Amino acid sequence: MSNAIQISRDLWQLKIGTVNAYLLKTTDGLVLIDAGWPNKTEALFQAVRDSGHNAKEIRHLVLTHGHIDHAGGGADVLQRTGASSYAHAADLDLINAGKAEHLGTSVTPGIIPTIVYLLFIKSGGTTYKSFAVGKTLQDGERLPMAPDVEVIHSPGHSAGHIALLLRQEGVLIAGDICSNVMGLGYSVLNEDTALARRSLLRVAEYPFERAVFGHGKPLDKRANEMLKERFSDVRLT
Ligand SMILES: [Zn+2]
Ligand SMILES: [Zn+2]
Repeated sequence: MSNAIQISRDLWQLKIGTVNAYLLKTTDGLVLIDAGWPNKTEALFQAVRDSGHNAKEIRHLVLTHGHIDHAGGGADVLQRTGASSYAHAADLDLINAGKAEHLGTSVTPGIIPTIVYLLFIKSGGTTYKSFAVGKTLQDGERLPMAPDVEVIHSPGHSAGHIALLLRQEGVLIAGDICSNVMGLGYSVLNEDTALARRSLLRVAEYPFERAVFGHGKPLDKRANEMLKERFSDVRLT
């Protein structure tokens, strides 16, 4: 079974257990977006092969944020590929220390987040293999190796969270600003849910038709409108 799904001409979703990473093809080699949980690099590289690519051609690793399920495999990926790495400055403290999440991160209220947390997240550990990030990314910046891709700083889930907008293709790589596991919902963990909601609504103002997530299925149509509709009602926080 293939764990790679082609999202657009140059973008693939790589399903690695409970988390998705993404592979972007550029004129400057392959860009891996997120590296999955620790000790899943074999599965990650198999998914890269499923997408029809060679993991040795990964030249860049861009992290949406420093949580263990996205950055936990980063040190291994960098060691095996020699790729350059990129993240927002506000999560470097996590990545440089291999810390699963910032202090004060808590489970979103509600029965489903609680169950998901207990089943899938709690057992994931509190530390991972740390690594140094080569370049920091800022809000509004274009990725140096992929000038069509805009960085959107979107704190709340974690302070240094970024989403990535593929301008030409109208695709948002949403990271964990929310999830789409059992429909659109807040991420199971947030540092600050009110801030996460403000970030979500700001991201939803950008032009994109499709969105893909760190957890769950892609949205294929009207994705920015759906985010607005789902998260503009304050009673749902
Ligand atoms: Zn996260
Ligand atoms: Zn995550």
